[in-house]
Amino acid sequence: MKDSFQLVRIRPGVGKPSTLERSVSKPAKIIAFANQKGGVAKTTTTLNLAAAFAEEGHRVLCVDMDPQGNLTMSQGIDPDSLEQSMYDVLVHKVSIREVTRKREIDVACASIDLAGAEIAMAPMIGRERALQRAFEPILEDYDFICIDTPPSLGLLTINALTAAHKVIVPVQCEYLSMRGLIQLQNTLSMIRENLNPDVDIEGILPTLVDSRTIHAKEAIEILEENFGDRVFASRIRKTVRFAEAPVKGMSVLKYEPNGVAAQSYRDLAQEVLHGRTHVIAARAAIAAGTPA
Ligand code: ADP
Ligand code: MG
Repeated sequence: MKDSFQLVRIRPGVGKPSTLERSVSKPAKIIAFANQKGGVAKTTTTLNLAAAFAEEGHRVLCVDMDPQGNLTMSQGIDPDSLEQSMYDVLVHKVSIREVTRKREIDVACASIDLAGAEIAMAPMIGRERALQRAFEPILEDYDFICIDTPPSLGLLTINALTAAHKVIVPVQCEYLSMRGLIQLQNTLSMIRENLNPDVDIEGILPTLVDSRTIHAKEAIEILEENFGDRVFASRIRKTVRFAEAPVKGMSVLKYEPNGVAAQSYRDLAQEVLHGRTHVIAARAAIAAGTPA
């Protein structure tokens, strides 16, 4: 039926799609970025993968579910200047559109008041589904909704995992960081049993990889021995660009479009969009000197 088609929004400055395309209207794919450990590049991955999706012409919303508001800040928005935030969406059922700002991608903003949401939501019936309900009216507006989560497995993260179709788990390549994955898997099992039977891990992403160290190589080997194909073929290397870009309120794709850091998240986007074999084949073609 003609009505089931919609025009893909063309964003200024975005290379693809270069012509008006028609695509079947589908509800957004919702991805949560989770790991209860802090400093493993959850926020960095949420923003930069979202920016890579947007570069491909997709309509993307990033949702900041961390009271620290790092994602909000990394798009140049001051959390203290916000009149309403994700707290109001979760606790007072304010429309998520009211707290969304348009930047490189759309950002549903957080501020420190979100720290009080877990207590404010405690007496609410269906408190684990508050975020899922908030998404219902906007599912057709986006191709991807990317949720950044705080470094805990509390109610905010449970809301994200309940609303999500898939989970991406950034992991810093150190042995101690990887132990936390078992705990995350246990939480996901609990979510599957009680709240969201279909949620699954899209992939485990090695981040902050210092390829010069033997420890990093060994850590990736251990990860692959334990999780096999669930470990993305893409790797995110350690580089100071990731610390510099948010200070300017930009993704690395905007900050240094031709840099290695930007390319690593474009590779990850290709892997999520087209699968692991696509990325491995593309790499092999580059190594052999024949473009894929
Ligand atoms: P999380 O959200 O898991 O706490 P962040 O995304 O905030 O982690 O990253 C933690 C810190 O590490 C930030 O200062 C960020 O700029 C930096 N960082 C993230 N990814 C990289 C990387 N690949 N190389 C170097 N620094 C990084
Ligand atoms: Mg973070």
